[in-house]
Amino acid sequence: MNAARFAVGLEGVGLSERAFQSALAFANERVQGTEPGEKGRVAIVRHPDVRRMLMLMKSQTEAMRALAAVAAVSLDAARLHPRPDERRRHQALADLLIPVVKGWCTETSVEIASLGVQVHGGMGFIEETGVAQQFRDSRITPIYEGTTAIQANDLVGRKLARDSGVAAKALIADMRALSGGLRSTPGLSAAAAVFADSVDALERAVDYVVSQYGIEFKQVSVGAVPLLKLFGIVAGGWQLLRSAAIAGERLSAGESLRCPRTSIAPRSRPRFSMRTMCCPRRRVSPTASFTEPPPRSPRACSDGGSPLPASDRVPHGGADRSAVRAR
Ligand SMILES: Cc1cc2nc3c(=O)[nH]c(=O)nc-3n(C[C@H](O)[C@H](O)[C@H](O)COP(=O)(O)OP(=O)(O)OC[C@H]3O[C@@H](n4cnc5c(N)ncnc54)[C@H](O)[C@@H]3O)c2cc1C
Repeated sequence: MNAARFAVGLEGVGLSERAFQSALAFANERVQGTEPGEKGRVAIVRHPDVRRMLMLMKSQTEAMRALAAVAAVSLDAARLHPRPDERRRHQALADLLIPVVKGWCTETSVEIASLGVQVHGGMGFIEETGVAQQFRDSRITPIYEGTTAIQANDLVGRKLARDSGVAAKALIADMRALSGGLRSTPGLSAAAAVFADSVDALERAVDYVVSQYGIEFKQVSVGAVPLLKLFGIVAGGWQLLRSAAIAGERLSAGESLRCPRTSIAPRSRPRFSMRTMCCPRRRVSPTASFTEPPPRSPRACSDGGSPLPASDRVPHGGADRSAVRAR
């Protein structure tokens, strides 16, 4: 059961990444509107609201992927760690996180895929780009392997109330240790303070569930899905803050954080591969913070801007149409 639910949560992460990559590629190609101080029309990636949507898609996807990785490590360590006490600790953490990974990642994937359609404008609503199919594919994920309400019931009943919140409190202590440690870190202190408030909110919600589950079941139950989402948002923020702290340490040590080039064999490259995304002519990569200057002349990238040979590139919608036919 855990493995199946975890896999559907990962499906949400994968669909979100796919939606982001499609939206990013389209935003670099689609020329529409003008920008103050610029001559002529610009690629839509230049518009602040498009960048807002792309950043939301990217940051949420990264948060979900990182949280899923934490759950995956615990699933493995629960079976394989040499110490029994560590196996028990990891099992409790995995049990706690599985409904969150399944419920939050899949619900968020629907929002991300919807944003992907929005970035595409009218082209997102029709089939040629393939993103309408991404939206449909993501919409089933909060339903099968237990709807979000079933995950939330599992979270509040079996994972919080039954152990009096012990596993959740251990996780909350880890989160507090991170925010406390970053309180005086330049560049991260403000985020750490906001995160500390979020952890307080999560702890209050957990305390409410633990104290009221046996008394006011219906009131706890009506807030179960919002609590699951709160849990995911705070835990995802925990992972993004951890990532920022690690990136900060590496930058201070003089390491480059440039996106690594992939060495995927040509035939197995995804439609929008990392290499395509990292094309120096586009100067916008999936790991970029969008502070890099976007392309000045989108027409200069009319070949897709890809360093790949044309035979390795797939036009918009091609892969998705064949996937639909295959069904
Ligand atoms: C494309 C697809 C593929 C599928 N593949 C498989 C498969 O391979 N194997 C398999 O076993 N099943 C499969 N299913 C079935 C799927 O697991 C169920 O559809 C899913 O679990 C929801 O159950 P249901 O459809 O009976 O909805 P219902 O259980 O009737 O739910 C309807 C609504 O009521 C809510 N609800 C129900 N009970 C509660 C409760 N106790 N508390 C709060 N809210 C509740 C739900 O959250 C939902 O909002 C598939 C379904 C689809 C659409």
